[in-house]
Amino acid sequence: MIAFNHPPFVGNELEYVKDAIEQLHISGDGKYTKLCSSWIEKRANVEKCLLTTSCTHALEMTAMLCDINPGDEVIMPSFTFCSTADAFVLRGGKVVFVDIRPDTMNMDETLVESAITEHTKAIIPVHYAGVSCEMDSILQIAKEHNLMVIEDAAQGMLSKYKGKQLGSIGDMGTYSFHETKNYSMGEGGAILLQDKKYIERAEIIREKGTNRSKFFRGEIDKYTWIAAGSSYLPSDMNAAYLYAQLNVADHIFENRMETWNYYYSELKEMANKGQIEIPVIPKECEHNAHIFWIKLRDLEERTKFIQYAKDYGVNVVYHYVPLHSSNAGRKYGKFHLKDTYTTKESERLVRLPLWYGMGKEKEKVIQLIHDFIKKVNLK
Ligand SMILES: *Cc1c(COP(=O)(O)O)cnc(C)c1O
Repeated sequence: MIAFNHPPFVGNELEYVKDAIEQLHISGDGKYTKLCSSWIEKRANVEKCLLTTSCTHALEMTAMLCDINPGDEVIMPSFTFCSTADAFVLRGGKVVFVDIRPDTMNMDETLVESAITEHTKAIIPVHYAGVSCEMDSILQIAKEHNLMVIEDAAQGMLSKYKGKQLGSIGDMGTYSFHETKNYSMGEGGAILLQDKKYIERAEIIREKGTNRSKFFRGEIDKYTWIAAGSSYLPSDMNAAYLYAQLNVADHIFENRMETWNYYYSELKEMANKGQIEIPVIPKECEHNAHIFWIKLRDLEERTKFIQYAKDYGVNVVYHYVPLHSSNAGRKYGKFHLKDTYTTKESERLVRLPLWYGMGKEKEKVIQLIHDFIKKVNLK
């Protein structure tokens, strides 16, 4: 069976983790956490990057930093992972879902403005598959209405919009280093910040509500509890695993891109004939080969395809059941205007196997799609 994903492993991770242990500092904010954060700060061109225990937790931090209170509204797509919504719902926020664009599966920027009310606090663009949302339009709307923009760039590390790294464009951004993402530390994430007024508060929230970060930098003599916070620091052993990958980040990027481009060139003809649909990358965007999806005609055809693939020995998976149709989504959110594309397009989409170091398996994946389409057309 060809798996859908293999966690990224470049080979040096064990050496780095061993060194982390030998540093006699396996808790948070040790040597490797610092190396990872400064690597990301330089690469993404942000003032501050703080590693967190997950992207979900990084999003929770953004909700606290924006002072989301019960009754406040946040605007996001329904086609996303539940963590995007969870972070705000935990603070009593109400989620307003807007429809997506069928080409990128990202939030339709032309629908955002009409979703704004006097309760709106923030807009949360999610860069699906590492392909950027239309950020200039979103930033313009946010500016006119005095709203925060928080990028859920969980899938977007090393992707760009108009030359800028995703996660560095809004007021705050988040990354995920879960094992299903391009770069991993098992479970982990990061929050990216530009504005000094949020950086100090973020350090305090992440360190149980204390000013311990300041203390370790020698800026104060002793640390105390000064605000409500939590514990969002990953172990330095996990950071060591991630650092081994950041050291060869471009190599991982190119390796994934090779597979992505192979899929694209092999499937283009079928897409031109209208037999399937393949991703669209707007000209402002440089993506990171996080996901390669195809769209079948409808839910029925997709269901058949997933079963056919299973029998063929290939594991393909769909994405996402729209949040507004889930129990929690109905309770904590509402869909703004009409669901023209979210449900319809999500029901047609399926992701192809794609991981770092993928070999000849990709040829079988293409063969599978050819065989399936041939079979469909014979009927
Ligand atoms: C993976 C993912 C998350 C959650 O990341 P974790 O690190 O697993 O918490 C959030 N949002 C999106 C869009 C994701 O793809």
